[in-house]
Amino acid sequence: MAMLDSALETALHDLEHRSLRRVLRVVESAQDTTVVIGGRRFLMLSSNNYLGLATHPAVREAAVRALDIYGAGAGASRLVAGNLEPLARLERHIADFKGVEAALVFGSGYLANIGVLSAIAGPDDALLSDELNHASLIDGCRLSRARVAVYRHCDTGHLRTLLDETRGARRQLIVTDSVFSMDGDLAPLAEIVELARHYGAAVIVDEAHGVGVIGPGGAGLAAALGLTREIDIHIGTLSKALGAYGAYVAGSSNLIDYLVNQARSFIYSTGLPPAIAAAADAALGVLESAPSLVERLHDNARYLRAGLERCGLRIGATATPILPVMTGESAAALRFAHGLFSRGVYVTAIRPPTVPPGAARLRVTPTAAHSRRELDEALAGFGAVARELALV
Ligand SMILES: *Cc1c(COP(=O)(O)O)cnc(C)c1O
Repeated sequence: MAMLDSALETALHDLEHRSLRRVLRVVESAQDTTVVIGGRRFLMLSSNNYLGLATHPAVREAAVRALDIYGAGAGASRLVAGNLEPLARLERHIADFKGVEAALVFGSGYLANIGVLSAIAGPDDALLSDELNHASLIDGCRLSRARVAVYRHCDTGHLRTLLDETRGARRQLIVTDSVFSMDGDLAPLAEIVELARHYGAAVIVDEAHGVGVIGPGGAGLAAALGLTREIDIHIGTLSKALGAYGAYVAGSSNLIDYLVNQARSFIYSTGLPPAIAAAADAALGVLESAPSLVERLHDNARYLRAGLERCGLRIGATATPILPVMTGESAAALRFAHGLFSRGVYVTAIRPPTVPPGAARLRVTPTAAHSRRELDEALAGFGAVARELALV
C-alpha cells in the first residue's frame, strides 16, 4: 500500500511539474452568473449552463414538486423497477422536441455514449471518428471493439479515404460531436451525411453542446441543417444548456427498443432520479416557450467575443458561444486563469489531454443570463491580466 501511494505521489508531482495537475474547487452557491468560492463572489464564465436554466424558477419548482411526489432516488434500474413516470414523460417530450419516433434517457452523456457505441458496434464493424470527439465517444469506440478509424478534425476528404479503406466491414458508422466541446466549431454535417449516403454508412451525432445552443428553438445542428431524418442516432445531454443532469439518445423506435435490450450502461445502472428528470422536462418546456433565450445567449457571446478581441486576445475558430482563448502552453493558461481568479473572474484553464499538446486555452462561455454589466466586469479583468502577462 505504501508503495502504491508513493508511486501515485510521484505521478502527481510530475503532473504538477508539467502544469497539468488539476484541483477541485468548491463552489458554495448555485451555478449562476456569479458564484461564491471561499466566501468571495466570482463571475462565472466556465459553465455549460448556457441558458441559465440550472436556477430557473420553473425548473426548480418542477424538481421540488417531483421530489415531494416521488422521493429522492429511482430505487432500481429502469428494467427492474426504477422506470418512474417522470422519466417516461421526459422521453416522450424529448422525442417530440427532436422530431423523431422515440428517445431513451441515460444516467449521463458519458454513459449514453459508451452504452450506444458498445451496443451497436462490434468487432466486425468500423467506427469512423473525428479526432477531436469527446472523450466519452472515444471510450465508447474502444469499448465496442470495432475497428476505429480516426479522421482528421472535420476533414471529409480524410473521412472518405477511411470509408474506402473500411469498406469490408459489416457496418460503417460515422460518429461526431455536432459542436466540438473545447473549440466551439461545427462538424461538416451536410458533407458527412452525403458521404454516409454514398457508402451506406450510419451517422451518430452527439449534440451535447448543440441542444439549446444551435438551430431553430435550440433543437441542435442536425435540425438547423434540415438533416434530422438523415441522422441515425441523435445524442444530447440534459446537463448543459438544459441545466439538469442525464442524457438522451433519440431516433427510431427500433433503435430505442434495441438499446433498452442491449446498452449495458442503461441496463446495469439505476434510473435517473425522478426530480432530475422533472427538472430536465421543465427546462425543455422553458426552451420551447422562450426560444429568445437562445438569441440572448448568442448576443452575449458576440458581445464578449468582441470585447476579448479588443483586449488583443486570440480566439480560436469558433462558431458558437464557446470562446476558446488560445494560450498554447499549459503554464500560460494556468497563469492567465490564476490572474483572472484573483480579479474575481472564474475561467478554467483547459489543458492536455482534454486538448492536444500545445493547444492549452481558456474556455470562456457566457450564458443567456449574464447582464452586460457582468460581461463588462469580466472584460475589465481579462484586459488587466492580458496586460500584466504581456500577452498583447
Ligand atoms: C459533456 C459531454 C458529454 C458528457 O455528458 P455528461 O452528461 O456530462 O456525462 C458527452 N459528449 C460531449 C460532446 C460533451 O461535451
